[in-house]
Amino acid sequence: MTIKQLPQDLVNRIAAGEVVERPANVVKELVENALDAGARRIEVTSEGGGRELLRVTDDGRGIPREELLLALSPHATSKIASLEDLESVATMGFRGEALASIASVSMLRLRSRVPGSEEAWMVRADGGPPGAVEPAAGPPGTSVEIRSLFFNTPARRKFLKTDPTEQARISEVVQTIAMANPACAFTLTLGTRRTLELPAVDDPRRRLVALLGAELADELIEVDFEGAGATIWGLAGTPEIARPTAKRQRIFLNGRPIQDKAIQHALREAYRGLVVPGRHPTVVLFIELDPRLVDVNVHPTKTEVRFRDSGAIHQAVRHALRAALKGRDLVPTLELETGSAASATTAAPSSTAGDRPSPSAMPPGLAPGPVRDFGPTDRARPVEYQRLAEDLARPVAPADALVPGIRRDHRILQVHAKYLLVEDPDGVLVVDQHALHERVLFEELVERIRSAPLERQALLMPDVIEVDEAAIEALELLAELVGRIGFDARPIGPRSISISGVPSFLLSRNVEPGPFLAELLGFGVEQGRADDPEALLSEVLDMMACKAAVKAGDRLGDAELANLLARREAVERSSNCPHGRPTSLRIPLAELDRRFGRSS
Ligand code: ADP
Ligand code: MG
Repeated sequence: MTIKQLPQDLVNRIAAGEVVERPANVVKELVENALDAGARRIEVTSEGGGRELLRVTDDGRGIPREELLLALSPHATSKIASLEDLESVATMGFRGEALASIASVSMLRLRSRVPGSEEAWMVRADGGPPGAVEPAAGPPGTSVEIRSLFFNTPARRKFLKTDPTEQARISEVVQTIAMANPACAFTLTLGTRRTLELPAVDDPRRRLVALLGAELADELIEVDFEGAGATIWGLAGTPEIARPTAKRQRIFLNGRPIQDKAIQHALREAYRGLVVPGRHPTVVLFIELDPRLVDVNVHPTKTEVRFRDSGAIHQAVRHALRAALKGRDLVPTLELETGSAASATTAAPSSTAGDRPSPSAMPPGLAPGPVRDFGPTDRARPVEYQRLAEDLARPVAPADALVPGIRRDHRILQVHAKYLLVEDPDGVLVVDQHALHERVLFEELVERIRSAPLERQALLMPDVIEVDEAAIEALELLAELVGRIGFDARPIGPRSISISGVPSFLLSRNVEPGPFLAELLGFGVEQGRADDPEALLSEVLDMMACKAAVKAGDRLGDAELANLLARREAVERSSNCPHGRPTSLRIPLAELDRRFGRSS
């Protein structure tokens, strides 16, 4: 075969394949152009999932008659002229080929009127070079109308999904752009339905609430943070409104939506222990960062970026969210109406594994923690009430101290040896004694281990346990961690481990150390998590806390009840156990009043 220069329209069509994969991409390009033109109002219309018609109309600065043809030619742009410009682009699109590409695969009409001018002009292109500029009529601004998208690229057309799917993607694109551009009004019409009507607003958070759903307003916490050279702001949903999918998570970098594994991981970390695995919190974050500290041209659609210091951004995002969540009472409300607990956090998803990203798809160290529940356990002997807990007998505060929220002298009622009922300023708290104690112990262990290894008690007679070979290997791999939590253990044969020191914490809580270590090693093997020591440590401390905590069925004395609830106030994230299930539910006073027919 001889080498041939491809005709320009074919080159365009090939380029189009990269820029416009589907109708939603077209919408994105057109809306970004409108924003670049300073539009204050943008109207988007789609019919037939975008296949039949896409129209984007704006009130921006328009395109002068003599530039209309240029706008449709490839590599023509008014936005950059040099390489320096490329480094510091503030505009949305700047490849200078969107219109040309779209025109090559559709029937396109570009109509525009420059504000202040009396005349509107129009040009058409039907899959080939544009025709002549013709006079037209219309208001100031620009309207781009695309019909029969992909009419001349049947393969691409076949690749499209059903109308509702394509529409959902279009809607997604418009919503995302609208989030980042609150000063511009947007409408979206799908077929005959006006699905979005967003007025321009001054406060960007109002736009976010409008898009996330006004009914969620009370569940959205403001995020405001500065650090790592970045400003991070936005809204973070309470754990109650976490969802089975991550659809309500949006991250913007300097106004552009991005997808970033490290940031997603930071987000999960921030909510760790507040939502059950398989649920995804609602979070919309805007990160403003000096453009020189990030490369946005990694990926043609610019959704992936490369941070100069990704670790610092990760940390900043986590801190931003944690700080926001910390300032908020996260106890979910018991909805008496339906008789079920406020759903989101409590309903464990039926299949958690399916929703989770596969660990192999994640960068090392970013794989999510395993779903793990150290369920109702195997304490050596049932603990009787009197011997229960040095832990809970330990005084926490002067007896007359007013613990925020709960007065120490309030009566606490234990019911069914499982739940605690207590008054708080907003109503009645129902507390799961095991879940709360587990969270409290967990936080205390985390706190303690931060400064020094956990306290160890030497055994007069070493305890020897029989394990499998994998566990021996795990012991070598996890030696540091095992030592840090208070064990002194070493292999003394292919299947035996000798334990000569054990965590005092476990002893004090009547947990048999031998089986505990065996389980820990089995867990380490099974998860192969030695590469993420922090996550593993957190799991192990949780395992200790869970085994050591009071169980359903343990009867508690008044002092122990008071102690437990007082410590609830002292630890962070007391609203949920380390697995993310709630420790407490609130029946609001107002709800009781309403149900009992009291007006106030
Ligand atoms: P780019 O946006 O990368 O410059 P496009 O092909 O998207 O390339 O657009 C080409 C040019 O057409 C833009 O640079 C701009 O000057 C002009 N243009 C496109 N859409 C609009 C619009 N809605 N309002 C005003 N000018 C526009
Ligand atoms: Mg463009």
